[in-house]
Amino acid sequence: MSIINKSKIEWVDYGWNPVVGCLRGCPYCYARKTIKRVSDIYATKEVDCIGRERTKGIWRRIDDFRPTFLEHVFDKSFSKKPSSIFFTVLTDPEYWKPEWSRRIFDKIRKHPQHTFIMLTKGPEQTYSGNIEIPYNVAVGITAITDEQIRRAMKTFMNYRDHVRFLSIEPMIERIDPGLINPKLVDLVIVGGLRGEPLATNREWVDEFRYGKWRWFEFGTKYFEKNNLQKILGRKLIQELPWPISKA
Ligand code: SF4
Repeated sequence: MSIINKSKIEWVDYGWNPVVGCLRGCPYCYARKTIKRVSDIYATKEVDCIGRERTKGIWRRIDDFRPTFLEHVFDKSFSKKPSSIFFTVLTDPEYWKPEWSRRIFDKIRKHPQHTFIMLTKGPEQTYSGNIEIPYNVAVGITAITDEQIRRAMKTFMNYRDHVRFLSIEPMIERIDPGLINPKLVDLVIVGGLRGEPLATNREWVDEFRYGKWRWFEFGTKYFEKNNLQKILGRKLIQELPWPISKA
């Protein structure tokens, strides 16, 4: 059985994509572009894994970026060393079938030494409580407007025993740091827009981090993605609450 791949994303060790595809249709979606490049590979491996009968139309489904469970990826093994594993890189779990979530969470429970990282733009659906999320899952919400951050804080109130993180990526407008409740957030990640670094303004990032409300002094960690390097022109702050070998 093959092992999952190391990730190029700087805030995790590994990527694991048992589900690919999403129905939200964000205009800046990099996952859709990635899938276009690798849909052939995924489809071929899935056919090899579970046979032609059970995979009719799979290439079209994957290439169209429709949510698809991939048995051959699900079956992969994890390293023995405690690691951080991002398992929603090419999807949004908001659109998963409940049986997919149950299978994935069952496997995650059997590997308590790892931190599994989950990120969604649909917190109300993904974290509705209908399916219990294992405690070794870090629950993340992408929020890029003040209103989305308010909603994220409400959701995080129901996940006090999990690691909770907010991803403000891409930061494409000024964000009010006063909305961050450090009692509810273990980590805030800030990033720029892929391929368009100037869409993020240095002032917005610095105000968010160094403004009057010093939320990070209460223990919340803060991570600036590498794609902010050019805009900020200073050493990036890169703190994480989970194990990582490359930070
Ligand atoms: S929610 Fe994520 S995966 Fe879905 S379209 Fe938007 S950026 Fe892509």
